Amino acid sequence: MDLAELDRPMLEVALDERGHQRFHAGQIFRWVYHRGVIDPAAMTDLSRDLRATLANSFTLSTPEIVQREKSIDGTEKFLLCLADGRTIESVFIPDTPSMTFCLSTQVGCAMACRFCLTGKMGLVRNLSAGEIVGQVRVLADALRMRDTRFNIVLMGMGEPLHNYDETMKALRILADKQGFAISPRRITLSTVGLLQALEKLAHEPVMPNLAISLHAPTDAQRGDLVPINRKYGVTDIIAACKRFPLKRRSRITFEYVLLAGVNDRPDDARRLATLLAGVKSKVNLIPLNAAAGIPFDRPSDEAVDRFAQILADHHLTVSVRKSRGRDIRAACGQLIVEGQKKSAAQQLAVMM
Ligand code: SAH
Repeated sequence: MDLAELDRPMLEVALDERGHQRFHAGQIFRWVYHRGVIDPAAMTDLSRDLRATLANSFTLSTPEIVQREKSIDGTEKFLLCLADGRTIESVFIPDTPSMTFCLSTQVGCAMACRFCLTGKMGLVRNLSAGEIVGQVRVLADALRMRDTRFNIVLMGMGEPLHNYDETMKALRILADKQGFAISPRRITLSTVGLLQALEKLAHEPVMPNLAISLHAPTDAQRGDLVPINRKYGVTDIIAACKRFPLKRRSRITFEYVLLAGVNDRPDDARRLATLLAGVKSKVNLIPLNAAAGIPFDRPSDEAVDRFAQILADHHLTVSVRKSRGRDIRAACGQLIVEGQKKSAAQQLAVMM
């Protein structure tokens, strides 16, 4: 049994089935997640018997770092190899103002947003909860950050709500008080807005902050950029956001990739302001990170400022995302792993 795939209640059951007491699950979580010790022999507060059980009936899958690149701005991109040889990328972003780990939730992505390189890969497969949490274990060790507080953003490869169950299990493991104990307030889930999943998310025990990748104020524009919008349109998403339970003082982030001449005009800004009126929101503008194969241009700084100003004039909170790690292709939408075999799932992705 793979320990990495068990949340604490599941581990309790597994221990019980093997004749051990349930409370040991907390101790094991502290070793694995809090202290980063994975060798049962080193788990000194467990009985010899339990250590033997761990050694004999459990494994602990851990992604392997195959490449590590550091940007001049301190951002680091990790290429991680999974048990089946597939690879994913995770990114460490320092001082934003806190430390942030940007995690992948899928190998590739089925959403095929036209400005995103990961979208070009199609979906290869979902990550398991253990593989999502594994990114944190590996990065925390590599960066010697087991004792440092950090934030988590699910903004790497993949659409987290398209891999709902494993993503939620991963969040429960990350938030577990005996483990990493990462407060849900430090976790942000970014999504294109899969409607049913969004409604479900509203009832989760571990409720992350929500970021919606909006990118355009009208269905005509958004449908062209974010294909899934043809299924779940702007009006429905905004309505779901208005219903979304927010803690006091918290808001939904709306991400908006600015594409020169496409969605960066003053009219677009005004429409966006109208759309978001009455939503507890903040807008995060992301000037496009251009790349070969992406049929759009990055707007000028003036166009970005003008857009931001119009939103501010309409009393919206707005920030412009600074691109981090562009020199190592670790910036938003630049995560892509070349040379992975096309799978059936990928063919399916094209049809969604
Ligand atoms: N699938 C989720 C999680 C990925 S988050 C989502 O779409 O929200 C990645 C963020 O980077 C999203 O807001 C995405 O729209 C944005 N992004 C994608 N490609 C980009 C690019 N080329 N330049 C800037 N931002 C990009």
